[in-house]
Amino acid sequence: QMLRNSAHDAEASARHLIFPLVPREDMDAHGPSILMSGSGVRVTDQHGTTLLDMMSATTRAGSLGYGNREIAQAMYDQAVTMHYSGAGRNTNAAAAELARKLAEITPGRLNRVTFTSGGSEATETALKIAKQYLQQSGRKPRAFKVISRWSAYHGATMGALSCTDWLAVRDVPDPRVPGHSFVANPMRYRNPYGLDEETYSDICIAHLERQILLEDPELVAAFIGEPFQQANGVQIPMPSYWKKVRALCDKYGIVLIMDEVITGFGRAGTWFATEQLGIEPDILNMAKSMGAGYAPIGAVVTRDEIAEGISHFRHVHTYSGHAICCAASLKVIEIMEREKLVENSDVLGREWQQGMKDAFGDHPIVGDIRGRGFWQAVDFTADKASRAAFTDDTVVAIARRARELGVIVGPIGTAIEIAPALIATRDDLALCTRLLRQAISEVALERGLGRV
Ligand code: PLP
Repeated sequence: QMLRNSAHDAEASARHLIFPLVPREDMDAHGPSILMSGSGVRVTDQHGTTLLDMMSATTRAGSLGYGNREIAQAMYDQAVTMHYSGAGRNTNAAAAELARKLAEITPGRLNRVTFTSGGSEATETALKIAKQYLQQSGRKPRAFKVISRWSAYHGATMGALSCTDWLAVRDVPDPRVPGHSFVANPMRYRNPYGLDEETYSDICIAHLERQILLEDPELVAAFIGEPFQQANGVQIPMPSYWKKVRALCDKYGIVLIMDEVITGFGRAGTWFATEQLGIEPDILNMAKSMGAGYAPIGAVVTRDEIAEGISHFRHVHTYSGHAICCAASLKVIEIMEREKLVENSDVLGREWQQGMKDAFGDHPIVGDIRGRGFWQAVDFTADKASRAAFTDDTVVAIARRARELGVIVGPIGTAIEIAPALIATRDDLALCTRLLRQAISEVALERGLGRV
């Protein structure tokens, strides 16, 4: 029955769905992957194949796995009590309680919350807060410019896209929002100039200060960045990097926005990655794991001083603070606390990274294995000495082979990213390591690239 329905679904999706990011040629050749059912970290597709999903449903958002009845029940209960309270002056008990809880679990003085339906809206909202705060408080009435970083991804809507530098999505809707510019992003294993990591990190900071001066500090409202950047696989900067960014933002009165849409909610081994940076941002964004894939929800959290500097916040989303989404997120937090999933992500993440290093760290095409918590990456190289990246499809071929072997991982530029649900067990992680090792070995052998 399931397979018969899936033929219908495949046809309907091919005729009527627009698929993001996958080229038409690829879609025509391979078709969609229709996920029919799931339980825990395993998911079954339309062919009846069950896979170990180590990407939390592709997006890294499905952070509590499939089939969680507790969350479903909390959403149901909320739906039949007060499903939706509108926006503006109205709110609901779930939104109020979630805001209180977020103020408690976010770092430092972050205390005021506004909700969104996802990460892109969170970026838009954060930029609006930064600008309206500087304008309405009189601190910098003319400020509108935003600086972000090379390889950044902050979302798909126009404002978010304008501070995004991911080439696969960037050039389509030009012209973008005026006033956005980019500075170098700190990469440690491989940077564009082959410099040592410390020198390159300092250059990134020098570049940022120069850009602020070039743009005119009076006009620069915000700097936005991901604590650990996703591009080319979990880029963890030098420990001093974010402290120096914070110092520059303080020096020039620039609002520092930390985009924790991926890293938030335990993904990187702490509730928020910012906790690992030794700084306090002015605004912190979250989404993805916040609803664990059960509900589309994001949030922007800021300090009292910034919220109170805005006398009239001119920005609204119809589904901001949606009661069912807030109820889902409250349940997600409850489960994460009860099951100690943040600690799980930290402790098992370390073990798992070491396990991967032991299993295939010495392979000639494995350049770097890095990450925090349940967000790890294997960066590949065609030449260990120079750290040169592959210019062909080797990385994609490894991910494809891994999937054939039964595990979903995510190719991202020069690396493969692995971001399992936080409920993954030691055995799940070990199985992933074993299958990935096999995929690397087989693809490398086929292509004459050496063996483990
Ligand atoms: N910011 C970051 C760091 C992200 O990774 C993403 C999505 O991948 C977004 C923003 C956009 O979030 P959404 O896709 O929910 O709009």
